[in-house]
Order: sequence, then C-alpha cells, then structure tokens
Amino acid sequence: MRLSAVSGTYPAYCQLGYNVTETQAFSRPMPTTVTRFPPSPTGYLHIGGARTALFSWLHARQRGGRFLLRIEDTDRQRSTDTSVRAILDSMAWLELDYDEEPVFQSRRMDRYRQVIDRLLTSGWAYRCYCTKQDLEHMRKQQRARGEKPKYNGRCRVGQAPPTDAASVVRFKNPREGTVIVDDLIKGKIIIDNRELDDLIIARSDSTPTYNLTVVVDDMDMGITHVIRGDDHINNTPRQINILKALGADLPIYAHVPMILGEDGKRMSKRHGAVSVMQYREDGYLPHALLNYLIRLGWAHGDQEKFSRDQMLDMFDIRQVQRGAAVFSPEKLQWLNYEYIKAAAPAELLRHAREHFEHAGIDIEREEGVEGAVRLNQDRSKTLKELVERSLLFFRPPDHYDPKAANKHFTGGAAQILTELIDAFRDIDPWSAEHIHDCLHRIAERHGLGLGKIAQPVRVAVAGVAVSPPIDETLALLGKMQTLDRIQAALNFIAKGA
Ligand code: GLU
Repeated sequence: MRLSAVSGTYPAYCQLGYNVTETQAFSRPMPTTVTRFPPSPTGYLHIGGARTALFSWLHARQRGGRFLLRIEDTDRQRSTDTSVRAILDSMAWLELDYDEEPVFQSRRMDRYRQVIDRLLTSGWAYRCYCTKQDLEHMRKQQRARGEKPKYNGRCRVGQAPPTDAASVVRFKNPREGTVIVDDLIKGKIIIDNRELDDLIIARSDSTPTYNLTVVVDDMDMGITHVIRGDDHINNTPRQINILKALGADLPIYAHVPMILGEDGKRMSKRHGAVSVMQYREDGYLPHALLNYLIRLGWAHGDQEKFSRDQMLDMFDIRQVQRGAAVFSPEKLQWLNYEYIKAAAPAELLRHAREHFEHAGIDIEREEGVEGAVRLNQDRSKTLKELVERSLLFFRPPDHYDPKAANKHFTGGAAQILTELIDAFRDIDPWSAEHIHDCLHRIAERHGLGLGKIAQPVRVAVAGVAVSPPIDETLALLGKMQTLDRIQAALNFIAKGA
C-alpha cells in the first residue's frame, strides 16, 4: 500500500514516466518489501545506526522481503576503507544479513550524471550560475524583509549563461501544492511546496548531492520502505518531489526518533560507548545489544527480553514511539548479564573466543575452557569479565591480592593448607563431591565454618578472595595444579613469616 502522495503542479511535458496515484497503487499487486540501510563510511557504525539497521532488517525479514546495504561514500574526503570495514564487520557481528552485494555510491557516478541530465533535458532541473556573493546578497535582502532565506529561483527562468561561469544544477521544485508524507512513525506530515527551495542536485564540480543520490538509489534498488533517523525528515519532501519528477514509485517512510543520553542530550561518547564495535570489544553479546536496541523506542507490554524469533514476530515499525528514546548503559549491561547467564556454555564460548585469544588463551588447545565458562557465566556482566574470571584455570596467580593475603594467609592458615595438601593427595577420583567432603571434614576437625577453610585455598589458587564454588573450582583446576598452588602459597607464607 502506498501511503505517500504528492500533490502539486507537474506540467505534462515534464513527466518522465507515469504518476503514481493512490488508486493505481491499490490496484497493483503488493510489491515485495525492500528496505535498505545506507550508512556513510565516515566513522564507526554507531548504535543509532545499528538500531535503524535492525528496524529495517526486521521490517523486511518479517515480510519475507529483501534488506539491502548501501555504502554512501560519495564524500571521498571523509569516507575511508576502515569505516567500510567497520560497517561490514558490525553488520556481520550483529548477524544483520543483507541480500546482494552492498551498493557503493562511489561506483554509480555515471548513473547519477545520467539522471541529472535527464532532469535537465526534461525541464525538471536547471543550471544556476549565481555566485556565492549573489547568494549572500539574496539572503541578506530576504532577512531584511523578515523572510526565511532560500534560493529565490533567479536562474529558474532560464537566463542566458554568463560565459565560462561555473554552475550548479538545481531541482525545479514545484511552487504550488503540498507534499504529504504518511510516516509510519510520525503520522501525517504536510509540507507546503512554497517552503522548499530549488535544492542543488549537482555541485559546480558536477558531483551529485546527497538528496539526488539517495533518490536515484532508492528508485533503482526498488526500495519500498525508507526507515531512517528523523534527522532526515526535512529531506523527505524534497526527495519525494524528485522521485515524482522521475516518475518513480514512492516509498513509504518511517522516521525513527533520536537516541538521547540520560541527560537529555543527543547520544555521544560522553554517555558511554557509541560504536557497535566498542561494545564487541567490551564483551557484549550481539544479541544483548540488539535486544537493548529494539527496546529503545519500542515496547511489547512490559516484556524486556526478546529472542530473535520473537523480535521478528512481535516488532511493528508503526508502534515505534514518536519521541526520542533515552539510552541507559546500566540496562544494556543488565541484559548482557542475563543473556550470558542463560547461554549454553558452548554458544558462549563461540562469542568469548576472541576475548580468550586476547588474553592469550587458545581455546582449542587449553582444556577446561568450557567448564571455566560454565562456572563463571552466572557472575559475569560481560564476556571480558567472564574471561578474566576464567583465567585462574589456565595460569597460577602471579601475585596474591595483598588485602586477601593479609586476611586469609594469617592465623592458622598455614596449618590448614598443610593439612589440606595431605588430605587432597588421597582424594581419588578427584571430584567436586569428594573435595567438598574433604573440606568439611577439615573444617569440623578445627571447629571452623567452611568459609574459614575455603578462603585460604581460594587465595592460594586464584590470588584473590573470590572464585566460583571452591569444590567445583578445584575439581576443574585438577589435582596437580591445586596441590602445586597450595604449596606455592605455603612457601609465600613461610617467606613472610
Ligand atoms: N547516509 C545517510 C546517513 O547515514 C543515509 C540517510 C538515509 O537513510 O537516507 O544518515
């Protein structure tokens, strides 16, 4: 269903194709839904972009449609290969798969020129020779008259070009009528054509401008739904007018509200990480981030956690709220914790691999990595923390936390550790259950609580006073390592005594 329509005066000779009226659109078969995500590769992919990508992806996928990626790299000065890589990596990490190869705008310059020529020859565009000074003068006069500054259409009427003068190409925006956008999120927006000036579609060096390239690509790619940030809302009526002039089908628009920091200001680095890849590095699960993003401005009752299938099932772009959403790093971390806790260890390991590698642990070669993950997953807010907590299984402590050592290596600790070495030696098979019984026996013998026995052992094997349950920790660590580390702790205590 086509919800956007333009009314205005389009002289018959200017029509490049047919005009889509709502009646015609209704009588045609519904086109397959095609959405797009068109980032500019001038930096990392930020979370606002990732949310727009997610909404577009969901909208296409839940209708069996196509989701396309377009790299808007016409600004050759600011676009970098590193940014393109970061975008592709972020999309892959978030598992937002797109159909077909990404479209690079920088490779479509001929096509844009062709369309600009078409608009020129059909009378929908004209060359403008006004100089910077002319434009400044024009604006000054308009301001003096209390008018909103805009291009006054001086070259629109077709004056003779000054010789050798540089020119830009302007779109001949209709001067009457209105543009109506039935935005899926914002509702009906009506813009008077008199508000819009004749925007530049080609610069004096003949490069096309954003509004032209977007229109040509959305048309050529058969985009049916443009889902994008509401910072582009002012561009929409201009783009609709160009699409109309080209006789193209109009897409349906959905403008997604901004993301703000908790202080109400536009989300920036001050509010925490803004780049998708930073979240990856910080140890977030891609699905936790997606789950957080889908809830930024959209809700389904009071449900907080959504599986991918539930997202596809329940998300509705029309239910996205109109106002800005507020980003909460704490809530994102809570979701990450929830997903880490609930994940199958093998699945978690798949995501934690790079963090283990970063810590120098080769998960293919080390034994017990999955066990370490299982023991720590219910206490780790990030994968980074999970790996830090797991390291004790692969490396003896390189030092003892002074506070923990002061507290737990004193009093009768040496005596207890010595007794434990003897008792542990006899345990066979080495299992959490047997270790548990053994610790209990020794605690009883000394008339102490289990904690008093477990803490010196903990500091001995982990270097700190926290670890997963001690019996399971020692079981996974293995008998040899446990005995070696307790002996090393005893040596340390003896040296200090
Ligand atoms: N390259 C534009 C941006 O990153 C895309 C705008 C659009 O969706 O049309 O903001």
